[in-house]
Amino acid sequence: MVEINIPKDLLPVDGRFGCGPSKVRPEQLAAFSSVGAKLIGTSHRQAPVKNLVKRVQDGLMDLFHNPNGYEIVLGNGGSTAFWDVSSFSLAEGKSQLLVHGEFGAKFATSLSAPWLEKPTVIQSDAGSRSELRAEAGISSYAYPQNETSTGVVTPVKRVTGADAGALFFTDATSAAGGIDFDPYETDVYYFAPQKNFASDGGLWFALLSPQAIERAERIASSDRYIPEFLSLKTAIDNSRLNQTLNTPAISTLFLLAEQVDWMNENGGLAWADARTKAASQHIYDWAEASAFATPFVSVVEHRSQVVSTIDFIDSVDAAEVAKVLRANGIVDTEPYRKLGRNQLRIATFTATELSDVQQLTKSIDYVVANLG
Ligand SMILES: *Cc1c(COP(=O)(O)O)cnc(C)c1O
Repeated sequence: MVEINIPKDLLPVDGRFGCGPSKVRPEQLAAFSSVGAKLIGTSHRQAPVKNLVKRVQDGLMDLFHNPNGYEIVLGNGGSTAFWDVSSFSLAEGKSQLLVHGEFGAKFATSLSAPWLEKPTVIQSDAGSRSELRAEAGISSYAYPQNETSTGVVTPVKRVTGADAGALFFTDATSAAGGIDFDPYETDVYYFAPQKNFASDGGLWFALLSPQAIERAERIASSDRYIPEFLSLKTAIDNSRLNQTLNTPAISTLFLLAEQVDWMNENGGLAWADARTKAASQHIYDWAEASAFATPFVSVVEHRSQVVSTIDFIDSVDAAEVAKVLRANGIVDTEPYRKLGRNQLRIATFTATELSDVQQLTKSIDYVVANLG
């Protein structure tokens, strides 16, 4: 590898641009060592940890505009576990899904479980997407709000003409806390804390509509076999008591609580949305103006404000650029491993400062100019 030392005045203060795990703010860690650390090693069945769970649930409800009758439910296993929670505890009959990348495809696999009907999959090429469409007999519609593998965004919107009782599932793992939305436009808005929420992985959260809760309860009382760990009914019951079925990571909850409070204190989701828009706009503007870089997502409305994917011309090896950046402390700009493109993928989650993104593009320009 070529040795290139990026001058200090071009480097970002924080060099973490990964799509999850991602930057955790120093203030969260400071609060953890002064306050959060006292909770570590104590029972999740006692008031101090239950109060922490409640703080997270209340904070998320505020952040998500307090929709009437909706609840914040949580459990262990991250968003990946929630795919199987959905297939066992929420899906029935036939689903329709948008698939235009790895994460959408994985949810489609879960909703193709043997006790369900084969779903309608609306597949599009990586870097673009299609739209859900009204289809008779569909009881669950699903899509990734931000397809993290490609940097494609989908608005949170119901489909007009859908069957009565159909539920809308939004994989908001990398969008929640970074993109504003209307909660009444979805029923199951699920995510994990290691992206915009600047915490660690391992938990899943879902904002559930009253209709989604009703369906979970109906399926739980049917004769379908549901493993306890994947029972949404069990998770709902525990969440109402500010608990989880099994032991959660307390530090993860604490870092998440700090990030949610920080967002709410600064202006909530509209503020977070404006931050990620400004940071990603800088990257797209830079790429449009660059002689060697172009946004991978060509349709402007499909471009994500939380994950920018930037293609490089053939004569510039993006993998080499990512390696040099890494050696200089700028990490996790590599593209999604299975996409196989000559590109960089840069997260602009809510914790990331615009000034650091501006330094990042200066650093990339410096590396490319010096690769020879
Ligand atoms: C990161 C991610 C996941 C996987 O989350 P885990 O918590 O690691 O299971 C799922 N969906 C999307 C859109 C993601 O970005």
